[in-house]
Amino acid sequence: MRIPLMAGLTKILLPLLLLLSVAAASSPSSDAEAVSRFQEYLRIDTAQPTPDYAAAVAFLRDQAAAVGLEARTLEFAAGKPLLLLRWPGRRPSLPSILLNSHTDVVPSEPKKWEHAPLSATLDEASGRIYARGSQDMKCVGMQYLEAIRRLRNAGFVPDRNIYVIFVPDEEIGGHEGVELFVASKEFKELNVGLVLDEGLASPREEYRVFYAERSPWWLTIKAKGAPGHGAKLYDGSAMENLMKSVEALRRFRTAQFDLVKSEEKAEGDVVSVNFAYLKAGTPTPTV
Ligand SMILES: [Zn+2]
Repeated sequence: MRIPLMAGLTKILLPLLLLLSVAAASSPSSDAEAVSRFQEYLRIDTAQPTPDYAAAVAFLRDQAAAVGLEARTLEFAAGKPLLLLRWPGRRPSLPSILLNSHTDVVPSEPKKWEHAPLSATLDEASGRIYARGSQDMKCVGMQYLEAIRRLRNAGFVPDRNIYVIFVPDEEIGGHEGVELFVASKEFKELNVGLVLDEGLASPREEYRVFYAERSPWWLTIKAKGAPGHGAKLYDGSAMENLMKSVEALRRFRTAQFDLVKSEEKAEGDVVSVNFAYLKAGTPTPTV
């Protein structure tokens, strides 16, 4: 989602990270319960293209009720519920914090998996949980809820309103999910100052924070040229013309990639260009 970060980022973010580290204080039994709640979420089949959003939202509403959060299900597109949770702050006039995660996951090919993708099998020895969505990004959504659960149990009340949203359709562009939400009056009413969105799962206590957004840009190149017989050599054919553009893009791609390889820039700081699809030519002797 593309919401500009407000000034004073560190003023909001640092206390939040402190909060999350306080929330990390736990007991073995509460950890085990958190893990089994996570497994339960993973077992709900929210894989595109037919995600069971109703089951996911029902599960999350139960979790929110157990944690003591106010819940609203918003449906901007039919059959695509967005769950909005609210943890009221002491000073609700301050800009709020919005914690985002998506409920859908990408499809899987079960035959290529050691454990069924919806089994959420826990390997006791390594502590690993195998499931589609375990990283992208059901783990983050559950971490938000577990952190809030522990903070509330410890009697903590935040200064600002904290909102947690679980959005549909992120894996297919979010057009009927967060895109409609950010244009809604419900979103404006939240008075959002800071959003924490998708990042990387961390197996340790460190939490990496990114503060950049990459925008996709689809470029279609249509090459035209002189037609002719394949037995002749001539200038200006469509494929020759296309190759000039491809070569220019390839050089740009290499230059960007070199910056990453030489560690001059991070992966998120360059423009990544990838050729996705080529449709060209005719399967006849005519060029
Ligand atoms: Zn994701």
